[in-house]
Amino acid sequence: MTVLITGGAGYIGSHCCVAFLQAGHDIVVLDNLSNATSISLDRIAEITGQKVVYEQADIRDQAKLETILKQHRCSAVVHFAGLKAVGESTKVPLAYYDNNVVGTHRLLSAMANCGVKQMIFSSSATVYGEPQFLPLTEDHPTRAVNPYGRTKLIIEDMLRDVAASDPSWGFGILRYFNPVGAHDSGLIGENPLGIPNNLMPFITQVADGRREQLSVFGNDYDTRDGTGVRDYIHVTDLVEGHLRAHEVLASGSAPSNCFAVNLGTGNGYSVLEMVRAFERASNKEIRFSFAPRRDGDVAECYANTELAHKVLNWKAERDLDAMCRDTWNWVCKNPRGYETAVD
Ligand code: NAD
Ligand code: UDP
Repeated sequence: MTVLITGGAGYIGSHCCVAFLQAGHDIVVLDNLSNATSISLDRIAEITGQKVVYEQADIRDQAKLETILKQHRCSAVVHFAGLKAVGESTKVPLAYYDNNVVGTHRLLSAMANCGVKQMIFSSSATVYGEPQFLPLTEDHPTRAVNPYGRTKLIIEDMLRDVAASDPSWGFGILRYFNPVGAHDSGLIGENPLGIPNNLMPFITQVADGRREQLSVFGNDYDTRDGTGVRDYIHVTDLVEGHLRAHEVLASGSAPSNCFAVNLGTGNGYSVLEMVRAFERASNKEIRFSFAPRRDGDVAECYANTELAHKVLNWKAERDLDAMCRDTWNWVCKNPRGYETAVD
């Protein structure tokens, strides 16, 4: 039986492919390469010593999905494919609803027609909106505050409705906090195109000289040093959570046929703590200046991780130094992303 990994050529998906292959699963990667390159698939093969079965396709193409699910005899889907930039989602919301919501609807329809009834879905801590209490537990009220977040919440609701309609479906909704880091080989990692929106890719581009300095958005938050606090999680830990979720669904030991769990470390780090940790790992100075708060940002956001531990028997293990070291190793080996690998 094969696991279909949508978006498997992307940042988190490529790490997930490595984890699933190394755990002995057969996988097939489906990606339309709208935000990835197929070089990542060659790198997955290099790390694992296994050939990667790949189908270039779009999740909105239901007929093709059905062919792929049948041809590869898939038993489950890990669903990463989607658009993910918050700022962009406010500019082109219809593209986000089409790709994320319509795409997931077509994928679920194809799965229903082929009798494939298990899915692990990439959700996000953004579904909690402004925290009413911390750490965030899974029963914290949900309230998306931008189109991207709304697509995640709509998809979560769709999965809950489908699960309620038929007990033979099984869904694991994984709410990611802030994934960072790279595989410790330095062969796969995050490859952002254009000016990065997220903190870690921006810091790496200051470290390698591509950007002059980091703008720290806000130094007057009610946090220990005034800068925003987030729960950064190593991507390798994150994908191990997916492996566990798949095992839990496949073995029938899930607490219900649609469960949602946080994937975070439970620790919050400020922007300035991230800067200092990256300076230690890279031995480079990260120049920064304070800038106004960014619209829509919250002061603090970090996970309660108890449910993930209970349901998945999983805990993040890699610390902040490992996150920064592995990111820097990836960047040094691929200075401008996949096209510019150096030996
Ligand atoms: P990514 O852009 O690197 O990966 C997404 C992949 O999906 C890309 O390879 C892209 O080419 C592919 N894709 C997009 N639309 C597609 C479509 N219609 N059909 C087929 N393939 C398509 O992003 P990522 O950081 O690896 O994120 C993966 C998932 O995790 C996304 O759903 C994202 O919303 C979610 N997520 C990411 C973060 C984060 O900080 N990276 C946080 C929370 C949730
Ligand atoms: N941040 C920053 N400068 C940047 C990018 C991000 O100061 O160039 C801050 C941001 O305000 C937040 C933290 O870094 O406090 C994490 O931001 P990111 O966009 O990576 O994640 P998110 O806000 O989506 O959790």
